[in-house]
Amino acid sequence: MEGRKLLLIVLDGLGDRPIKDLGNKTPLQLAAKSNLDWLASNGACGILDPIAPGVCPGSDTSHLSLLGYDPFQVYTGRGPFEAAGAGIAVKGGDVAFRCNFATVDRDMRVLDRRAGRIKQGTVELAKSLDGLEIEGVRILFKAGTEHRAALVLRGPGLSADVSDTDPHEEGSNILECKAIQPGAEKTARIINEFSRIAHDTLRQHSVNREREEKGVVPANAVLIRGGGIFPHLKSIEEKHNMKSAVVAGVALIKGICGSVGMEVLEVKGATGGLDTDMMAKAKAAMDAFVDKDFVLINVKAADICGHDGRPMDKVKVVERADQMLGYIRDHMTESLVLAVTSDHSTPCAVRNHTGDPVPMLIFGEGVRVDDVQTFDEIACAKGGLGRLRGIDLLPLMLDLAGRNVKFGA
Ligand SMILES: [Zn+2]
Repeated sequence: MEGRKLLLIVLDGLGDRPIKDLGNKTPLQLAAKSNLDWLASNGACGILDPIAPGVCPGSDTSHLSLLGYDPFQVYTGRGPFEAAGAGIAVKGGDVAFRCNFATVDRDMRVLDRRAGRIKQGTVELAKSLDGLEIEGVRILFKAGTEHRAALVLRGPGLSADVSDTDPHEEGSNILECKAIQPGAEKTARIINEFSRIAHDTLRQHSVNREREEKGVVPANAVLIRGGGIFPHLKSIEEKHNMKSAVVAGVALIKGICGSVGMEVLEVKGATGGLDTDMMAKAKAAMDAFVDKDFVLINVKAADICGHDGRPMDKVKVVERADQMLGYIRDHMTESLVLAVTSDHSTPCAVRNHTGDPVPMLIFGEGVRVDDVQTFDEIACAKGGLGRLRGIDLLPLMLDLAGRNVKFGA
């Protein structure tokens, strides 16, 4: 049987707590959101612990969970997932490191661990080191935000059991990378060779010449730390026989979704910022169903308002997201199973992620409609889906979509 299609909308950092200035309401409770409320009224609602009750999720671990991967099993540390976040399509077996652009003197002594918190030119600097090959191992190197970068080694005979080259303090020399476990010697040699090439290449780079002319410190070295091996993840297609895609502005989400085989759609105006064009995201997602079975949309904006502690801006983001849902409502067919939820709460009063559960709704032909009339943290807690974990959501959608395989006879 031809299965139905799945659309998962993740409003990043949406969950909040009652706010005094809002009359003890959450931003979601206060917002005018007729489309979200209509979907809640005509769908099944509940609340979701993105990872597990009381666990404060990162966006990376929670998206893994929402995509049906147990983060406790597959999350191998920030190195590999930051590499994904820097836009490197990491693969199982890749060894990844977190890096800093730094300033060193002639003796390789670290003068500034963040190269003057360099903001511009890192993409060009990174390009000059991306694509190298050392001892038959391919080097992928991409700039992240500000002074940060990611390094991935891809090839045979690699290990993550090597020491950092980052001395973690200024005034000390860049360290030699060493094998911590037997079998990691090759990786250590490659890291040391890369470190040497990086210094040689960067110190002559035009970006650094210009910096020195302006009297700012050059980004003439790369500090390497936090090695981890990227897990072998079965793709969404292998697991569920679905072709899938993601529409997101944030590199981290693109990276995570890319690593489980989802096509990353580049959409004009669909940034990871407050100014993101949500309508463009909705349109791109709906258009993608021509050849995709499962699409995930991530909208980062509510999370940004939470981190900045701006509840009224969060209300406005919800209202814009509601218009996006209006577009989807107008263009969806009966064959679509739609879920709307979040990857974690970012309460404006806390200005950071918390373990509070987030609201969720599932809408589509055949869903058991419950009594919930509005889409918010409090109302959804009374819904028919009860309280689930992030990892439970995709199986529910698959089942409603007629894509599940029977367990047993
Ligand atoms: Zn956040």
